[in-house]
Amino acid sequence: MATFKIGKMLMRSLFGKPATLMYPVKPAKITDSTRGHMTIDIDKCVFCSLCAKKCPTNALTVDRKARTWEIQRMRCIQCNACAVACNKDALQMAPEYTAPNTEKVVDLFQGPPKEEKPKAEKVEKAAEAPAVEAAAETAAEAAPQAEA
Ligand code: SF4
Ligand code: SF4
Repeated sequence: MATFKIGKMLMRSLFGKPATLMYPVKPAKITDSTRGHMTIDIDKCVFCSLCAKKCPTNALTVDRKARTWEIQRMRCIQCNACAVACNKDALQMAPEYTAPNTEKVVDLFQGPPKEEKPKAEKVEKAAEAPAVEAAAETAAEAAPQAEA
């Protein structure tokens, strides 16, 4: 009986369809819970490095000065810890897998230049302050005259 069972399994393995897909020749099955690869909306990123600190495989490098966010794809284990840590909602798991490669893949994202507050605005505000003070003084001086 056992020999018959083993023989049946052997035949099925030899002549049946393979249990695995020939990925990437055949496309992978994508489901709702598929964790494909990590993506970033670089415009939302404030380069705080929280994601890099939480990454268990050190796949992320954040450079605040250069405003860059970098991921080593082959180190990433798709755990989603970085996305949970990001309080700017900049990271998301996309369902598609990255293309297979024999080389180490590093994706670097460059953030937009930091917006400097225009200096002219500061100067204007500084100029406005004495003007407001002067108006207050004039009003205070005029008040007793009006009473008289
Ligand atoms: S992705 Fe989020 S956690 Fe990572 S550096 Fe940018 S803002 Fe910070
Ligand atoms: S998904 Fe996990 S392993 Fe991949 S970069 Fe984020 S924290 Fe690191």
